Amino acid sequence: RQISRYSTAVEVEEPISPPVKVNYTQLLIDGKFVDSASGKTFPTLDPRTGDVIAHVAEGDVEDINRAVSAARKAFDEGPWPRMTAYERSNILLRFADLIEKHNDELAALETWDNGKPYEQAAKIEVPMLARLMRYYAGWADKIHGLIVPADGPHHVQTLHEPIGVAGQIIPWNFPLLMFAWKVGPALACGNTIVLKSAEQTPLSAIYAAKLLYEAGLPEGVINVISGFGATAGAALASHMEVDKLAFTGSTDTGKIILQLAAKSNLKPVTLELGGKSPFIVCEDADVDKAAEMAHFALFFNQGQCCCAGSRTFVHEKVYDEFIEKAKALAKNRAVGDPFKSGIEQGPQIDKKQFDKILGYIRSGIECGATLETGGERFGDKGYYIQPTVFTNVKDDALIAKEEIFGPVQTILKYKNLDEVIQRSNASRYGLAAGVFTQNIDTANTLTRALRVGSVFINCFDVFDAAIPFGGYKMSGQGREKGIYSLSNYLQVKAVVTPLKNPAWL
Ligand code: NAD
Repeated sequence: RQISRYSTAVEVEEPISPPVKVNYTQLLIDGKFVDSASGKTFPTLDPRTGDVIAHVAEGDVEDINRAVSAARKAFDEGPWPRMTAYERSNILLRFADLIEKHNDELAALETWDNGKPYEQAAKIEVPMLARLMRYYAGWADKIHGLIVPADGPHHVQTLHEPIGVAGQIIPWNFPLLMFAWKVGPALACGNTIVLKSAEQTPLSAIYAAKLLYEAGLPEGVINVISGFGATAGAALASHMEVDKLAFTGSTDTGKIILQLAAKSNLKPVTLELGGKSPFIVCEDADVDKAAEMAHFALFFNQGQCCCAGSRTFVHEKVYDEFIEKAKALAKNRAVGDPFKSGIEQGPQIDKKQFDKILGYIRSGIECGATLETGGERFGDKGYYIQPTVFTNVKDDALIAKEEIFGPVQTILKYKNLDEVIQRSNASRYGLAAGVFTQNIDTANTLTRALRVGSVFINCFDVFDAAIPFGGYKMSGQGREKGIYSLSNYLQVKAVVTPLKNPAWL
């Protein structure tokens, strides 16, 4: 197998056999595996070849109705919201243990369905799933209301109650991590769930939910529906018995979801949407480190990250030096079969994304940006794309404005801080930013001026469980992870009782 220090016409050899079998392809409703009501299935494809991995049950409106009924019953009548928080916490801890036990199978399913490097899935993402579950297990028995001071003789307290049935719609770029970000806080707070996986990557969510039941989750608490957005996803977003909705995906779909929620029962919605995050390399930056981090910020996960550092702003004093390093890093990126050791970049998720990215590359060339390296497909099968670097990119170029969601770095030159702040903020998105500087004042100035949900100073993509994540502007609403994620899944009830002859107020 070729590990690319690529040339344009490499032959990709026969794909490596994934070290896992697909055992679960049905819907998971009320703790049981079932076929879809229609009996329909859809193929999930291997991005390395476009071949079918498995046929998976295709959930639709009727299946969403069945799943919501199960989640409703589990919430209204079942033991989950009624057991002690300590018992709930222990189930999440057992789930984390099972994730660790099945680390390699989960990672292999994730790689097979998504195309991400197996080492990334096995060493970072699946362990992070376990870490997140332990983090939320820790919160379960620390969620409580407050005693609130009153003006008169009243005892006032707040109860922090679970919100009810949570609908969760996740994307394909980090299937298991998106599962964790949504399921962890919802369960810790005592809610029940209907989760719709992405049609491109249905396999790992079914497996993970099955492990949750093995860990002792009562029937109906999590229901997993594989299926398409316009059918199953829309049915979930507009369901009258769903009390809360959480979505990660494109900004356009986020708008639809918000409308569906508003037109049905006004369920509160959290949205994690797109981005066009600036990565700012200041004149005093360590250029070697900055180039490496900017490369990672963009190319990680085949460039399929909502917070990818996809506008690399470089100060004019270090611009030429930076470009040489960025180019060399892209040329040396190891592209190939994601199951092979040492591979840094696998295929894009599917043909639609592959075509879309190549379209953006063409538009970059047509608008006069300089293509420094890459620009074509890699190999002759599957959805691999060469690591691509554009320089001399103008702010109004499509590749500088729109989310490419692929391995395409766009490098822009700037002269001073005021200018780079203005240009960074001149985006409809506001998800994240990278800042590379050795000057604390510059770091502080940029941190406060950038209208984004995360600022990474001399680092990028640090995703610890406790660090909140979410967007300003059209990058989303609300925060996931950390303490902030809990309020998404809680109602606050104020309880007021008159005090008779109180000794004190
Ligand atoms: P998408 O937003 O359409 O899909 C994400 C999820 O939403 C999937 O589960 C999908 O089935 C569901 N969905 C789609 N239409 C729906 C609807 N009408 N009602 C309810 N649910 C619906 O994203 P995509 O088409 O897979 O990718 C398109 C672009 O979105 C990408 O190029 C990228 O720019 C962006 N994207 C962003 C993220 C992120 O992490 N923010 C993740 C994936 C894709």
